[in-house]
Amino acid sequence: MAPITKHYDYLVIGGGSGGLASGRRASSLYGAKVGIIESGRLGGTCVNVGCVPKKIMWNAATMAETLAESSKGYCFDTKVNSFDWHGFKTKRDAYIKRLNGIYERNLGNDKVDYIKGRGRFLSKNEVEVTGEDGTQTTYGADKILIATGGHPIIPTNIPGAEYGITSDGFFELESQPTKVVLVGAGYIAVELAGIFQALSSETHLMIRGDTFLRAFDPMIQEIATKHYEEGMGMNIYRGSKQTKIEKDEQTGKLTIHYEDKNGPAVLKDVDTLIWAIGRAPETEDLQLQKLGIETNGKGHVAADNFQNTNVANVFSLGDVSGKVELTPVAIAAGRRLADRLFGGPKFTQSRLDYSGVPSVVFAHPEIGSIGLTEPEARKEYGDENIKIYKTQFTAMYYAMLEHKAPTAYKIICTGPEERVVGLHIIGVGSAEMLQGFGVAMKMGATKNDFDSCVAIHPTSAEELVTLK
Ligand code: FAD
Ligand code: NDP
Repeated sequence: MAPITKHYDYLVIGGGSGGLASGRRASSLYGAKVGIIESGRLGGTCVNVGCVPKKIMWNAATMAETLAESSKGYCFDTKVNSFDWHGFKTKRDAYIKRLNGIYERNLGNDKVDYIKGRGRFLSKNEVEVTGEDGTQTTYGADKILIATGGHPIIPTNIPGAEYGITSDGFFELESQPTKVVLVGAGYIAVELAGIFQALSSETHLMIRGDTFLRAFDPMIQEIATKHYEEGMGMNIYRGSKQTKIEKDEQTGKLTIHYEDKNGPAVLKDVDTLIWAIGRAPETEDLQLQKLGIETNGKGHVAADNFQNTNVANVFSLGDVSGKVELTPVAIAAGRRLADRLFGGPKFTQSRLDYSGVPSVVFAHPEIGSIGLTEPEARKEYGDENIKIYKTQFTAMYYAMLEHKAPTAYKIICTGPEERVVGLHIIGVGSAEMLQGFGVAMKMGATKNDFDSCVAIHPTSAEELVTLK
């Protein structure tokens, strides 16, 4: 074993959203000696193969829709000949590269050591890092944070599944697929399918159930799935499962063998198959078992409400802990943890409250959700203690258009004071609308508080403060 080369107050494994936020806070605010170990690109999933390039692609897709609508309904003589996917990807990659550089400079500014390589535990106070050239260095630390995120999974029981790619591969596509199949029903499947459809790829979405986004409120599931199919014209395969994938080695085209309620069938001439069936925690190389660090049923590094693992002075947060897999959650948990560990007596109880986290699916149109779904609220408070307010309408934007995307809002209240415990929205502009309602709900807003705020007219959001 190599001797310890440097000792830190705080050693962070994983330079993604959570690890960077926690390490930088500990060093810049509290003067802790911090090292961050990163084996890939700084910024982690969100910056490199997640939120950021995804949102750029969503912007492009939304622009395609707006351009089409501008000529159809708004009397512009716009004519769009094509979308230069390759050129756009090149620009997008350059932007991400600039961000990687900014992240590295920020670490320098905050006096955090950037340790390039793959980390694994040697003991509860030692991590061995294998660099790109294979050299191994051992670092010691009083406290160690596991913030190693996760990776997309592909099925292991379908012959030929390896011919498909995942969301990571989506960001490497050099040209736009003509015909694309996505399998899955969560955030990623819905977002990527929406992007392809809006950019005019022939898009096929295979889901196991009758609707996608099954963890969302039923109103959202039903309206969004129907709109993707009937409004956008996407091919949706309900109750489907894939049985075999074949690749024509000459053309590179895929054939998807699947079954649905109509029995076995095939989908031919597919350029790209994307598995979007969930993610697994990135723990394989860490040697967790050597230290007896507990993982839960899905392999996430179990953490209590204060991000403590079962081993003293070893912490976990972000996707690897499997709580709420969102960037701002990882960042907030990381900062709270740094406050608690290094901020002194004022912060001994500092921790993230995981309830009421707002979240947006960048679908077409966007979907926003905070708090309990209707079935969850009924279960938690009882039918008699729940009041539902909802509306569905056509946003004014579509008044000039034949094509109309849905707008629907629901708020779920409980108790005599009608405290708002759930808010679910779909419609243009939902993503930017949601943050302020998140603040209100965190403050314990009631239906009366919503109603006491004068509406902004003409907007869609005004409907949320005038619900009957
Ligand atoms: P990560 O950001 O994944 O960082 C972990 C880092 O650890 C990685 O850089 C990895 O290389 C490194 N690492 C792993 N193991 C080791 C090791 N042994 N040694 C050294 N380094 C290691 N969230 C949102 O809030 N909004 C969105 O719009 C959104 N869109 C998304 C779109 C996609 C396609 C995906 C996949 C995710 C999206 N997310 C979004 C989720 C978000 O990206 C994650 O929740 C977030 O990145 C988690 O941060 P993290 O710090 O836990 O992990
Ligand atoms: P999710 O866990 O959200 O969704 C995966 C879905 O795929 C499951 O819910 C399931 O839906 C379906 N599925 C699972 N296994 C199979 C299978 N074998 N065959 C077909 N379908 C299957 O995972 P994602 O990968 O979409 O996203 C991971 C996480 O990243 C999200 O939960 C979210 O926290 C985060 N994220 C956030 C975004 C945002 O904030 N905008 C965007 C992207 C990701 P069902 O049971 O209905 O079949």
